[in-house]
Order: sequence, then C-alpha cells, then structure tokens
Amino acid sequence: MQTPSIQEMLANFHQEFLQITVKADTVTFNTPGEAILRQAQEKAIPLVNKCPPRVRAEDFFATMKQVAGVIRNFMPDLAAETDKIVSALPVDPAEQEKFAAGAFTPGVDLLSYLKTDPPPETFGFLLNHTIKPFMRQYAVNASKYLDTGTWLKGTCPVCGGKPTMALLEKESSRRYLYCGLCEVKWRFHRLGCPYCTSYESHFFTIEGMEKYRVYYCDQCRGYIKTINGSKAGDKDPDLFWEDINTVQLDVLAMREGYVNRQVETRETEKK
Ligand SMILES: [Zn+2]
Ligand SMILES: [Zn+2]
Repeated sequence: MQTPSIQEMLANFHQEFLQITVKADTVTFNTPGEAILRQAQEKAIPLVNKCPPRVRAEDFFATMKQVAGVIRNFMPDLAAETDKIVSALPVDPAEQEKFAAGAFTPGVDLLSYLKTDPPPETFGFLLNHTIKPFMRQYAVNASKYLDTGTWLKGTCPVCGGKPTMALLEKESSRRYLYCGLCEVKWRFHRLGCPYCTSYESHFFTIEGMEKYRVYYCDQCRGYIKTINGSKAGDKDPDLFWEDINTVQLDVLAMREGYVNRQVETRETEKK
C-alpha cells in the first residue's frame, strides 16, 4: 500500500475532525455592551479578551478525548505521544476547571498542569484542535454582536488570531480575511499586508492553480494565500478546505523564505 501524501493525510484527518462539534449552549459568555464593542473596534481588541468563552470542564475534556481518538487513527506518528499526554491530564475536578478555563485565556501555560513533560508540538496540536470546535461555536454565538464588515484590522475580531487565508470577492473586489481558528471572515483593506503596515502588494500564482494568488510582503516576510473570486466559480468557497487543500502553496512560499505568520503567532502564544 502506498503511504498517503501529507495532503491526503491532512484531508483525512480533518474530514474526521470536522465531525467533532459542540452544542450551541456549551459555550457561554457575557453579552458585550455597546461601550465594550466600540472600544474593541477602536483599539482592535478581540471579543475573547472582553467576553471570554466559558466552557464546562467535562465538555472540554470529553472533546479532547475525541480529538485524541482522531489523532490516534489518522496521525499514527503522533499516536503514542498523544496517549501519553491524555494519561497525564489533570483528574482532580478543580484542576480540570482551571485547565479548561486556561485553554481560552491567552498566555496561560497549560503544560504545567500535566504530570509529565510531553513534546510541546504534539501537546499544542491536541490543544489547538480541542479548542477549535468551541471557538467556532463561540464565534457563531458571538457574531451577531460584531460588525465584521467594518472591522478592517489584520487580526480576527473574535479570537485575535492572524488570518490564514484571504478572499477577493468577485463583484465588489472587496478583500476578506479568514481566521483558521474560529472560522470568522471579516473585511480588510483591498491592498497592503495584513501582518504589518506595508501598503505594497505583490503576488505570485502557479500554473494549474490560477484560482489562487499568494500575496507576499518584503517588509515582514509574511504571506497570505488568497482566493481570486473572479476565477473561483459561483459557489462560495469553503475556506476551511481551501486552506487544507493548498498546502503546496505554503510550501512554495516558505521555500522562498516567507513565513506563515498565523502559525508563528500561535507558537509564541503557547510559550
Ligand atoms: Zn478567530
Ligand atoms: Zn508585511
């Protein structure tokens, strides 16, 4: 049997991972008042900082075990490490509460709650994929309070993350950025780098993948994969899958010395 390519492995993993969802009432938060929303907009403060999601520890750990199961089945290289992490998770209810709350608080070192010292990359992978279904639901619940059409910042209005992808709308040529963590889409300026203050815009395309442009920035070395709406047909692109199915564009950009800013921020946040 042929070993699956990275692309296939990721696709299989995510196909299964997407089956893990949480109910709407699993994630609660304080309703943001008008003053909070105005301040958030002015100072680019994400909602997660003002009205953080609250998740019950038992729901959080149940989801984490489900995610661990998908990793075990689809990422055999990470299976043994994942098992070790799961068996080192806190069991005391009070500790579990703290752990689950910390998962949604930037800057909390969750590794210190574990009984062993697991490889941080595998732990980060498990943790990010456990947080994601909750953040996606949080974003759905919270989006009615936000005006994503006027946000115009380089970071996600819900979680503060950096965008994974961009979309150039066909008719209006407006540009939208997409957050890979909570799956929110928000409007951004048509030109310029979303990761720094540069107004320059260069992009490359590759043969056979004309639907995509990769915009890159020589000031901060960031890049962003972008769907050119005028070549994307009539269906609304599913940015979650578009991101996963275009890994070769990431590889090309990184080979040219550009940096995946989204991954980079999450790595730093973990520390
Ligand atoms: Zn987000
Ligand atoms: Zn830049």
